[in-house]
Amino acid sequence: MSVRILLVEDEAAIADFIIRGLKEEGFHVNHATNGTEAWEMMMTNDWDLILLDWSLPGEDGLSLLERFRNFKPNTPVMFLTARDAVSDKVIGLNAGADDYLCKPFAFEELLARVRSLTRRLDVQPSTILAFDDLQIDMANQRVDRNGHRIDLTSKEYVLLTLFIRRHGQVLSRNDIYEQVWQEPYDGISNTLEVHIKELRRKLESQGKRLIYTVRGQGYVLDRNFESA
Ligand code: CA
Repeated sequence: MSVRILLVEDEAAIADFIIRGLKEEGFHVNHATNGTEAWEMMMTNDWDLILLDWSLPGEDGLSLLERFRNFKPNTPVMFLTARDAVSDKVIGLNAGADDYLCKPFAFEELLARVRSLTRRLDVQPSTILAFDDLQIDMANQRVDRNGHRIDLTSKEYVLLTLFIRRHGQVLSRNDIYEQVWQEPYDGISNTLEVHIKELRRKLESQGKRLIYTVRGQGYVLDRNFESA
């Protein structure tokens, strides 16, 4: 079965060059040209590899990747971007990219990296995200704590995976709104508080507190958190 690659690239000439080359090498390639289309395609298919441009019309590649990692931590993603500063590479890799290739690049180098990132496809990647006594089966969006199933709404689920991926870090309301609701915090709404309260209630029905409020800063998920 051929390897399925999603290319997210708004510049037609670059996209044509990549698609033609990869198809000649036997890869199956689909193409998205803007942030909205990319998000839709990223979420509705299981890709073997995503080649992601950083600067895009609409939502940019970095923001797409950060959100995507809440749902699919194991899909290989490689940035293809003209941003060649070390600081950008660090930001891209920290956001969850597996590789980073600066434009302009030689097709041979792209091909070598694509082969490297898709080589171990026959090894089933783990889709279990675990923290303390919590287990999240990402493939089935199923959450268990101490062996008991916990039913979450889709927003609660996204909220929990965000906390687990960033465990030990205090997340501001604005951070959380941008990741979970894709909009900045308006400073008034109590939507987040309501969701946190409900998520805590469900999680704490099977174990101790994991999500703590940090006064004036936001929320943190941790095993033992002591407020300063
Ligand atoms: Ca671009």
